[in-house]
Amino acid sequence: MRTTVGIIGAGPAGLLLARLLHGAGIGSVVLESRDRAYVEQRQRAGILEQGTADVLRAAGAGERMDRQGLRHDGIELRFAGRRHRVDFPGLTGGRSVTVYAQTEVCKDLIALQAEEGGPLLFGAEALAVEGATGDRPSVRYRHEGRESVLECDYVVGCDGFRGVAREAVPAALARVHERTYPFGWLGVLADVPPSHDELVYARHDRGFALLSMRSPAVSRLYLQVPADTDARSWTDEAVWDELARRLETDDDWSLARGPITRKSVTPMRSYVHEPMRHGRLFLAGDAAHIVPPTGAKGLNLAVGDVVTFARALTHRRETGSAELLDAYSATCLRRVWQAERFSYDLTTMLHRAPDATPFEDRLQLARLDRITTSRAAEADLAEAYTGFPVG
Ligand SMILES: Cc1cc2nc3c(=O)[nH]c(=O)nc-3n(C[C@H](O)[C@H](O)[C@H](O)COP(=O)(O)OP(=O)(O)OC[C@H]3O[C@@H](n4cnc5c(N)ncnc54)[C@H](O)[C@@H]3O)c2cc1C
Repeated sequence: MRTTVGIIGAGPAGLLLARLLHGAGIGSVVLESRDRAYVEQRQRAGILEQGTADVLRAAGAGERMDRQGLRHDGIELRFAGRRHRVDFPGLTGGRSVTVYAQTEVCKDLIALQAEEGGPLLFGAEALAVEGATGDRPSVRYRHEGRESVLECDYVVGCDGFRGVAREAVPAALARVHERTYPFGWLGVLADVPPSHDELVYARHDRGFALLSMRSPAVSRLYLQVPADTDARSWTDEAVWDELARRLETDDDWSLARGPITRKSVTPMRSYVHEPMRHGRLFLAGDAAHIVPPTGAKGLNLAVGDVVTFARALTHRRETGSAELLDAYSATCLRRVWQAERFSYDLTTMLHRAPDATPFEDRLQLARLDRITTSRAAEADLAEAYTGFPVG
């Protein structure tokens, strides 16, 4: 098989890229190792920056998001029993975020691809990217028990943190920056209306907690837990008791409980692979970088990368100039590092390290206090949360 752009991975990065290229009249083939049901049900991100929502709309994938997504104009910070609302539009000149699950973004993009896009092969596992530095890179893959080769002009590795695309960059040319955290998130989905209408980020001496939502009827809640925690070791009652403790306030707010339908533990990691391009192989999304989920940046960064690639390739086709393709890695990394910085700052401000000293505890409280008393500090958080410009 032959195509212009071979895309490995049908997560949000690969699916959106296929859509953007289709809109620009550029052919692509998407190879996805898992089946459709798995991809459509994998629980992950839920916060779309304003820029991400705008990109989805412009790509024709915003209709259901605009009907079912929840516009959020702020978040609440909780610490030492206090509550403080950060007002996004007031601090950023009108920006907001949309709560719409990654599962739904993927379903919408898959449906569009099936209707009018190029080939999207489920159960097609990429084995290796070959010839990245030549004119004809290719992807060797296995589909329905047979090995085949997809010949391309360009390959984009959208295959997530555990994919194979990154392996095609020689170790001697790669720089990897990584930090793992000594804690993870125990995440639960619960069939109960959210106990607050905006996300609540809580710093507590027992650890971090986050109250968020998937819809007006479904809550998504997280607890900081030790990195090696087995989700099955937490009973539903213990989850609710711990959430109630960490989210407690000095007023009469209370947490509504309901049946928990899903429980899992996510490790926390910061990771950047530089450069994000090797010859005609481009890395996008989690294949190139990971942020801890605290800042809700992972999906949004993936969107930024593929928008940058699609623009660069369109520019190349229209003008013959490879200038934007050559700048791809540097352009993406500038935004990636801002998201890494923000996610790290928010994580270390809100989570309690196992070996935290009383001095570090007081510093966390001072950082939170600063946000609640300085408009500049609060605006900095609101700007970063609602999104860095793409490109
Ligand atoms: C619990 C949790 C909460 C999160 N919350 C947020 C949030 O609120 N906001 C936010 O922006 N981000 C969040 N994220 C991060 C976000 O989910 C990821 O950054 C996003 O999924 C990245 O998209 P991607 O397309 O780059 O990679 P992925 O979604 O990982 O997709 C990669 C795809 O490639 C496929 N693949 C892998 N290897 C191969 C292969 N060899 N051949 C073919 N296909 C392959 C995989 O099956 C997968 O479908 C969260 C993540 C987690 C885990």
